[in-house]
Amino acid sequence: MKRWNGWGNVNTDYPVPVSAQAYLANLFGSLDPQPDADYKTVLKSLPTSRLPAHPLVDSSAEARLTHARGQSLPDWVALRSGRIPVFPDGVAYPQTEEDVRTLIVYAQKAGAKVIPYGGGTSVAGHINPLKSDTPVLTLSLERMTRLLDLDEFGRTATFEAGVTGPELEQVLQVRGYTLGHYPQSHEYSTLGGWIATRSSGQQSYKYGRIEQLFAGGRMETPRGQIELPHFPASAAGPDIKEMILGSEGRMGVITQAKVKVRRLPEAEEFYGVFFPSWEQGAEAVRQIAQEEIQVSMLS
Ligand SMILES: Cc1cc2nc3c(=O)[nH]c(=O)nc-3n(C[C@H](O)[C@H](O)[C@H](O)COP(=O)(O)OP(=O)(O)OC[C@H]3O[C@@H](n4cnc5c(N)ncnc54)[C@H](O)[C@@H]3O)c2cc1C
Repeated sequence: MKRWNGWGNVNTDYPVPVSAQAYLANLFGSLDPQPDADYKTVLKSLPTSRLPAHPLVDSSAEARLTHARGQSLPDWVALRSGRIPVFPDGVAYPQTEEDVRTLIVYAQKAGAKVIPYGGGTSVAGHINPLKSDTPVLTLSLERMTRLLDLDEFGRTATFEAGVTGPELEQVLQVRGYTLGHYPQSHEYSTLGGWIATRSSGQQSYKYGRIEQLFAGGRMETPRGQIELPHFPASAAGPDIKEMILGSEGRMGVITQAKVKVRRLPEAEEFYGVFFPSWEQGAEAVRQIAQEEIQVSMLS
């Protein structure tokens, strides 16, 4: 189960080693960590939802608390201290584009703001509702995860936008393909979230950043559906995909996306190389990049 007040699964823990505790105590004085806020107590602190009831909207305290914050340090401090000033008024889990359209119309009628929610791994406050007189509906894509099409000839795959990194790679890799997009939040972040935040991964040096992999898709907006067709490179006018990349949920809900995929490499090897000085390391990186030597990861 995902941790409600921090990163990762509740069954995976990394306690601070004794040596690190001693090091920190030496730097900051005696360590006296505050106990975490109690989940059940925080649940009781939620204000009443301002949204009208709807069969697709979950207004339970659990749903609203677990979608209230992302994964930045201020988010963790808020969650672990139990001092969370604002919550969404409800959370919806659409399963189809039709559901997304229904929910946007519902939100319009209720005068509510909509926050599209992928994996909630934002470190920039993207998915945190702000204090406002209008209610907030968080729209989680977690039930829209299917592979819709794999075009082996054109080397593209179309997925529903809520697919997470591991789900997407697993589905592709059993078919002999990879997207190769590995942000460090890969475990929980989603295809729609990567596009909406112009994400970059550890192996983007070889496979390309998400803007180079995003080849088309669909978005639901308050004004209707936007189709983002997959054209070959074109010189005709601006590319509307550029408006969607990095749109941070402000233009609508990305419901599906077509991405460029590659054949899985036959072998992959990773080496760590230590340089005597920073300058020598930086010089090696410069030469590798400028000589266009094929590596997938260089950090
Ligand atoms: C430990 C950690 C490591 C990270 N490493 C990286 C990294 O290596 N590279 C990197 O680029 N980022 C990294 N991030 C930041 C974050 O993971 C990325 O911004 C990621 O792309 C967010 O994806 P998400 O699905 O979690 O989106 P969310 O956090 O749920 O949402 C982020 C924004 O995208 C919008 N959004 C999400 N889904 C949709 C959708 N379907 N339609 C429209 N808008 C949508 C939301 O409204 C919000 O504005 C890291 C974060 C953490 C916590």
